[in-house]
Amino acid sequence: MTDRHILTAVAWPYANGPRHIGHVSGFGVPSDVFSRYHRMAGDDVLMVSGTDEHGTPITVAADAEGITPREIADRNNRIIVGDLQSLGLSYDLFTRTTTANHAAVSQEIFLGLLKNGYVFPKTTLGAISPSTGRTLPDRYIEGTCPICGYDGARGDQCDNCGNQLDPIDLINPVSKINGEAPKFVEEEHYFLDLPAFTRALGDWLGTRKSWRPNVLNFSVNLLTDLKPRSYTRDIDWGVPVPLDGWRDRSDKRIYVWFDAVVGYLSASIEWARRSGNPDAWRQWWQEPDADAYYFMGKDNIVFHSEIWPAQLLGYNGAGDKGGTPGPYGRLNLPTEVVSSEFLTMEGRKFSSSRNVVIYVRDFLARYDADALRYFIAVAGPENQDTDFTWAEFLRRNNDELVAGWGNLINRSVSMAAKNVGAVPTPGELTDDDRALLATTSGAFAPVGELLSRNRQKAAINEAMRVVGEANKYLSDQAPWKLKEDPARRDTVLHTALQAIKDCNALLTPFLPHSSQTVHELLGGTGVWSVAPEIQEVADLDDGSPYPIITGRYEQGQAVWASTPLPAPGTPLAPPKPIFTKLDPSIVDEELRRLEEDGDPA
Ligand SMILES: [Zn+2]
Repeated sequence: MTDRHILTAVAWPYANGPRHIGHVSGFGVPSDVFSRYHRMAGDDVLMVSGTDEHGTPITVAADAEGITPREIADRNNRIIVGDLQSLGLSYDLFTRTTTANHAAVSQEIFLGLLKNGYVFPKTTLGAISPSTGRTLPDRYIEGTCPICGYDGARGDQCDNCGNQLDPIDLINPVSKINGEAPKFVEEEHYFLDLPAFTRALGDWLGTRKSWRPNVLNFSVNLLTDLKPRSYTRDIDWGVPVPLDGWRDRSDKRIYVWFDAVVGYLSASIEWARRSGNPDAWRQWWQEPDADAYYFMGKDNIVFHSEIWPAQLLGYNGAGDKGGTPGPYGRLNLPTEVVSSEFLTMEGRKFSSSRNVVIYVRDFLARYDADALRYFIAVAGPENQDTDFTWAEFLRRNNDELVAGWGNLINRSVSMAAKNVGAVPTPGELTDDDRALLATTSGAFAPVGELLSRNRQKAAINEAMRVVGEANKYLSDQAPWKLKEDPARRDTVLHTALQAIKDCNALLTPFLPHSSQTVHELLGGTGVWSVAPEIQEVADLDDGSPYPIITGRYEQGQAVWASTPLPAPGTPLAPPKPIFTKLDPSIVDEELRRLEEDGDPA
């Protein structure tokens, strides 16, 4: 084991509905591939996330159904936990933002910023209902967006252009409750002093040479026009503001985005508390040589390369106003913000409201998790917007996964099982045998290097190229023609099985489910690749029940190196198919489903 600590900080899926495959292409599978690779390489990985459950869209959904925001959050949290676990995403802790621990950590960060002067009160114009005199929550105010002209913009943001708004910005604002024009009165809110971090953020970004150029350029450009941003909002659902006179007010909360990003820290702390060593999180957040990789879609870059780093810098006392760290001590900034591009579906933007969507759950009801993971790794939106088509999914699955990797395993394992029934005994190796084994064992360094830099598409392509070499070797050596020379046949089969063992390790970060099966087919016992599990737990502070994803990943045997087959003579498990060949008719079926469910837009 090395002592390298790596935090994998995965974007928090928003709990207003189930997640579709576009979401898990952006934050889910890439972060899991990265974490699994680093665990195999001997690094100490902490992978955390949870459902983001505060904010206006949850309250709007709750209003529409006549239930509480908490009920909406409970329901969708459970669905999302099930989906992410089914995909094999190996979180050390997947939690939620409605825990008492998360509220306490969010409040501590707010107080630390306040103490150092980076959060300040400001009198601003807030909306009240003229007829009742009560505060009007941002979501109950609608009007025309001052930026794009969209008619249905809400008081906190415009869903058309995505810009964050204040109610006072809206043109012709009206109350959604009774249609009256809100009255704007002076009231106090707290603001994050982003301009005070322009220099510190610039210095930090100046050292981030390894980032994808588009992410780095976008982040640097943000610094040209930083303005204070409202840390508190007029909403009744969120983390209370921890100040006298504010704590008990039901209409003021910390802005959802400013508590959601704190989730990376609060989840790490919750994980440590659950592990029995409450300070264990500090190894990932305070050691100077620890690394932190943040995974998300490109629409969230601003919160990870500007807002969250500013919160951390302010808490550390490292902005223009100086200051000292709070009780958590000095906290590490992101090593890298790993942002993916967007996935579209059959040429259209995913849209839950227009039903241009396939949810993770529905996908996994019909297809294997590893088939989806393979598609995302080899053809996902790593560095450009990418279209998911059923025809391409079918082709990748049948031509590459089944006819390439699956066929190599089936041919070799079936022949060894039938002719030997056990791991064969190799004789002296020929140059061809040695060349193949040099290729497969030599692939760990270059594929590992690509994975450590999150060039996952190049990494899986290189691994599949090596699979192709092994297939070619098997066809060239044709062990099925060596009936008269069983010693040579067994040498070829042993070489092929060893190559498969190497390829299986190379593919384990991408295909964790099938890698366990391949391990067993090769005579291996025990757990090769650990699956995440769902546990029902009680909130550490208030006792309320919720499900988490966690796992004992250190118990897996998978390592990032060529490891020898079990000893010759070890019985082989009876062969069975690893991947499912799909019938071409699924393309038309799925397109019909999309047409029936979706609007024709
Ligand atoms: Zn707009």
